Amino acid sequence: MDCLFCKIVAGEIPSKKVYEDDWVYAFYDINPQAPVHFLIIPKAHIESAAEITAENSAVVAYIFEVIAKLAAELGLGDGFRVITNCGEDGAQTVKHLHFHVLGGKKLSEKMA
Ligand code: 5GP
Ligand code: ZN
Repeated sequence: MDCLFCKIVAGEIPSKKVYEDDWVYAFYDINPQAPVHFLIIPKAHIESAAEITAENSAVVAYIFEVIAKLAAELGLGDGFRVITNCGEDGAQTVKHLHFHVLGGKKLSEKMA
């Protein structure tokens, strides 16, 4: 499958790893929008938040467990933002479900 993030998971494209286990991979965004900006993805390909079902949703809960742990480890104790862009109107550019975790400064109150 021609998917950028599947290739990152497979190690075919280099990335700056934050965390990895059997289920998920977290890595720093190549174009950071905040002092701390990493992405966390399921290793299994899911296209977007619109493709989450009863069958594959467990990994999403798990991703949020890992986010809480990584945020604490990366010094985001004062807060952070989690974003998933979905589809055309959501400005999703990589069609593999990913959650942006942004922090390290007071973020804008504007969401869109
Ligand atoms: P989206 O707009 O789909 O929500 O976000 C895709 C994100 O992936 C963007 O923030 C972009 O900077 C990041 N990105 C795109 N290609 C690469 C890459 O090859 N490596 C890394 N680490 N991040 C990437
Ligand atoms: Zn993929």
